[in-house]
Amino acid sequence: MELGNRSIEVLSIPGHHPTALAFYDPKTNLMFTGDTFYPGRLYVYDWPAFRKSIKRMVRYGEEKGVTLFIGNHIEMTGQKGKDYPTGSTYQPDEHALPLTLVQFSRGCRFNCHFCAVASYFKKQQYYRDIPEVIAEIESQPRKLVFFVDDNINSYPELSIKLFREIKALKIHWVSQSTIDMAEDPKLMDAMLESGCLGHVVGFESVDPRNLKRMRKASNLPRWERYARQLKVMREYGLQTWASFVLGYDFETPASVKDTADFALDNKFTFAAFNILMPYPDTPMFKQLTAENRLLYGGKWWLHPDYRFNSAAFVPKSCSPEELTQACWEARSRFNSFSSLIYRAVDFKTNMRNPIRFATYLQFNPIFRKEVFKKQGMRFGFH
Ligand code: SF4
Repeated sequence: MELGNRSIEVLSIPGHHPTALAFYDPKTNLMFTGDTFYPGRLYVYDWPAFRKSIKRMVRYGEEKGVTLFIGNHIEMTGQKGKDYPTGSTYQPDEHALPLTLVQFSRGCRFNCHFCAVASYFKKQQYYRDIPEVIAEIESQPRKLVFFVDDNINSYPELSIKLFREIKALKIHWVSQSTIDMAEDPKLMDAMLESGCLGHVVGFESVDPRNLKRMRKASNLPRWERYARQLKVMREYGLQTWASFVLGYDFETPASVKDTADFALDNKFTFAAFNILMPYPDTPMFKQLTAENRLLYGGKWWLHPDYRFNSAAFVPKSCSPEELTQACWEARSRFNSFSSLIYRAVDFKTNMRNPIRFATYLQFNPIFRKEVFKKQGMRFGFH
């Protein structure tokens, strides 16, 4: 089956249903097994066919090197020993599928000018029930959880309730948060007591003029170039993945270098020097379209000449090539081996205790490899 530029291999696997299919993606080595095979109650209507299908999938998996079989759901209620009636089409409170990635909410209350989350969710945030989130974490064996929320601390009262429940689970976790979390001691206490190791934090820029253009409301109050918030985060020992959006109107190669200096000075655990990407439907995309500043025919994500980490628009204060080169230099500098060693030596964060140091040592080389591998890559190829 052709899916854009990706071929998916399809296998017939009757047993649960005569028409059941499995889908194998050779690019990721994942096999999707739908309603036939998953970690829960299996419903089999034709046993001989089912046995043959499972054997075929195992053989196929061994030949192709499948790394993960992913089922559709669990088919069991969250209550021990209680199943849904056969043939149910409505299955509330289904037992959680065990994944390392957990999500408490979607969306964000802020409205950043460049952000696809803000335009998609229209400043709304949608939450799951806390007991459901806790049950999901409890149902899996891993002790390090990544909450993939867009901004886990949008509404601190709700976050604190979640963190108080997490505390008893004795896990460690990371997520994404706006930097205004550092202004709320109650939130910081609850977060740390629940096992938080750190966050991806959108600093975006070290120039308040750019932040204003971005409408980055969480970063601007009482501007001190983040000194106050960083001091608090360090005192709490949070490890930070600093994220920057480079290319707003006052950006120049010199300001990108200044941003890299800022990241190095603060010994961030990770840093991402992202070129501003005009995502469709964002106010930024509309503005650049109206000003006729989009490159690649306005659809960089489909254009055969577009390469990863290249500017897809004409910046105001430098050329697209200068911006691309400056961001690459920032990335290379931050991820060099000498920087890796220099950043490690921070007894408040990266060397605070063995767990922090192990996390730093384990993930920094992986991140470094990814950064260099992806530079200049054509979309859809790897
Ligand atoms: S704070 Fe982050 S997630 Fe929220 S709108 Fe801004 S960039 Fe998007």
